[in-house]
Amino acid sequence: MKTETTVCKACKQSMRWVLTDKGKTLAVDPEPSPHGNLVVREDGIGHIITKDDVMPPGVERFILHAVTCTEGPKERRKPLW
Ligand SMILES: [Zn+2]
Repeated sequence: MKTETTVCKACKQSMRWVLTDKGKTLAVDPEPSPHGNLVVREDGIGHIITKDDVMPPGVERFILHAVTCTEGPKERRKPLW
């Protein structure tokens, strides 16, 4: 599996880029998380779990970096007033 880790420009945490089956490249945290909503298939392609997906137990889930980023999303969530 191709694992490319880069450092987030905003929060300086390392993150990993995963190409998804939708053709999008998403940044996820390098460590799996039970709360993650992205799985990496055997072929290395990421898949966002939807409510219709049945995940086998023990499959590693990854959380999108946009969720855990301590900088970017917080900035965007800041009230405008
Ligand atoms: Zn970040």
